[in-house]
Amino acid sequence: MSKPTNSISLVKPFLALIVLSVVMLVAAVGMVSYRSNDLVRSTFSDYMLDRIELREEAISKLLNDIVDSPDSFAALHTSKEDADALRRMEISKRLADSFSANEVVIISPKGDILYSELTSSATMPPQFAFLEEDVARLLAIFSTGVSDSVVIDRVAVGDAVIFLAMKHFMVGDDARFVVVTAPLQDHSQTATLSGADEVVTALYENVERMSDLQFVGIKNRVGTTIGWYGWQKFQPASQTLREYAPLAVIMLGLILAVTFLFFRKYREFKQAVSQQQENAEFRALHDPLTGLANRSLLIPRIELAIEQYKRGSKGFAVHMIDLDRFKQVNDSFGHPSGDQLIVQAAKRLEEICRKTDTVARLGGDEFAIVQTDVSSPASASRLSRRAVEQLSNAFKIEDADVFVSGSIGVAVCLNQVTTREEILRQADIALYRAKANGRNRVCFFEEEMDREIKHRRENETSLRLALSQPDKHGLRVVYQPQFSANGRHIRGLEALTRWTHPSKGPMSPAEFIPIAEETGLIVQLGEFVARQAFSVAERWPEITMAINVSAYELHQKDFAKNFAKLATEYNIRPDQIELEITETVLLEDSAHVARTIKSLKTAGFKIALDDFGTGYSSLSYLRRHQVDKLKIDQSFVSSIGVRDDANAVVQAIIQLGEALGLSVTAEGVETEAQRDALREQGCAYLQGYLFSRPLDTQDLAKLMQVLRDKRAKAQRQKPRRIA
Ligand code: C2E
Ligand code: CA
Ligand code: CA
Repeated sequence: MSKPTNSISLVKPFLALIVLSVVMLVAAVGMVSYRSNDLVRSTFSDYMLDRIELREEAISKLLNDIVDSPDSFAALHTSKEDADALRRMEISKRLADSFSANEVVIISPKGDILYSELTSSATMPPQFAFLEEDVARLLAIFSTGVSDSVVIDRVAVGDAVIFLAMKHFMVGDDARFVVVTAPLQDHSQTATLSGADEVVTALYENVERMSDLQFVGIKNRVGTTIGWYGWQKFQPASQTLREYAPLAVIMLGLILAVTFLFFRKYREFKQAVSQQQENAEFRALHDPLTGLANRSLLIPRIELAIEQYKRGSKGFAVHMIDLDRFKQVNDSFGHPSGDQLIVQAAKRLEEICRKTDTVARLGGDEFAIVQTDVSSPASASRLSRRAVEQLSNAFKIEDADVFVSGSIGVAVCLNQVTTREEILRQADIALYRAKANGRNRVCFFEEEMDREIKHRRENETSLRLALSQPDKHGLRVVYQPQFSANGRHIRGLEALTRWTHPSKGPMSPAEFIPIAEETGLIVQLGEFVARQAFSVAERWPEITMAINVSAYELHQKDFAKNFAKLATEYNIRPDQIELEITETVLLEDSAHVARTIKSLKTAGFKIALDDFGTGYSSLSYLRRHQVDKLKIDQSFVSSIGVRDDANAVVQAIIQLGEALGLSVTAEGVETEAQRDALREQGCAYLQGYLFSRPLDTQDLAKLMQVLRDKRAKAQRQKPRRIA
């Protein structure tokens, strides 16, 4: 059976894949946004540092311009009153206007303050006084002659960072330095940068802790970080993410929900499909009425058992089961009741089997069991005997107890590997034997049966050939006369078939008639005998011609019609012909046979009951079928004088015949004692070797002649009456 879970197990990997994709997507988005944030941050940092440098350059340039300009600084070169001169020329004002200088100071090379001015736009208190060390460092640069131009650096003052710019100039022969301090910040510039109005200049100890700010380190000329330039974090990617996060979550949820729904539907669909497949498979391999396995499933089960046997498992058995008299149940109760019986029988068989066995219905009233794990014929025998027992118990149908029985043929595979065809064939042969042996029994397959079947088949072939060319292949008809009780007159003839088998020589009808019946060849054989018998009957119209008819023929559809047609063809009066049927035919109680007999009677043919006394014929049968004659079976005749009860039976039959107005013939009369006894009891007709064996037509004609001559002679010898 196929497992629907196979396809569904794909769902988990799929879901995992989707979750993984989502995780990867989130990670990618996170990485991109982190990278974007970082990019913005570093761009921002670069921008800030660039601006510091630009400002530095601007300060240097302006300082150079002011100091080197002849107009502005000419006075300083000569005048001792630096402060006044400066004031006049409003140098400090220019400086302050241009770059928000805090303080302008003039010093001597030794660092003495000659002049100090706090600019009007200063936003900070004078710083210069705290910068002694830095000023000395910058002065040293001039003294080594490294620079003639503006020397500028960034220095820390308290928790702020400022520019410190210095330019050298001469007043007469005296060297002077103009020193300017200016704040790092420039609001006029920073305002143009988004978010940058938050910019602060700070010397933070642990800037990393201040998570709402971003920083860039500010270094002095020798590369020491002297402070941090910080600003409010600006992270456009994170901001975008935050904005779209709810939407993304909703969409993600939707995707997951849709995926989940899809897989659920998919699973339902898959389950439905596999259910349908299973159903179809089940229907193909099972009998719809009983739910048992059918032939299509039985075959692979047998093959499996063979395969397992080959691989060392125990043996197995095949039981072929046929219900006896099922047809009668069907005919008298109707098909629905027949079906009920089949269902009950199937259930009983299933109940006595194990799960590992296979019970199959092969059609109609035929079943089969493949029994596995069989270690001895006894275990197979136990199962089949139980099956027979089960089937012989009453079946309840429409509140009535109905009895059928079962015939079972068993073939076992125990000591030798077999094939599927072989074991089925063997079980079939055994079943055939079980039925032939009287039904309601178990029969095991034996080699001997096989040989018998082979012989039958050979005989069938030969018989078929004989029927195609009777003269050439030894098929002919002989006629045994039936005499009047005094033995002087032939009242009738009985047609009997003779066949000389090509290899076995003369064969008894008791042997080949059953083969002809089983194979259906009896129809052809019957017609052959009838044609021969009619042609003989035509020669002696005053003598009755008896023809044996078998049950199989009476079951044929148009037997009566065809038989009558044949008689007409030979110009035979129907009342000259007597059909011999056996009691067992009447016992079957078949409606069709009854109709056939009635049609024959209506057409004018006579009916004789053959082998009378051996069966169970009752008066009612004799009356119903309007039988014309009884033939006392040979077994009673041969027992006359030997067994007392035989005399009694013979007498009873003769009296029954008299009472019903039927003529009675005794068959197989071999001795004079038998003849005398029968005569004495009033038997009208006698047939047997004592009078004549069955004769061919030539001998028959001679016998007729002899009898005629005898009668004529007797007539002549009769003393004449004297008038
Ligand atoms: P049956 O109808 O009972 O035929 C009588 C049998 O007894 C014949 O055997 C006959 O040869 C034999 N018989 C006759 N007189 C004596 C006697 O005094 N002593 C002994 N021991 N036997 C005697 P046969 O010809 O071997 O036929 C056997 C059976 O085969 C017949 O029994 C009949 O049932 C069947 N049969 C023969 N020919 C035909 C046929 O053409 N069609 C059908 N359907 N059955 C036939
Ligand atoms: Ca007969
Ligand atoms: Ca007979």
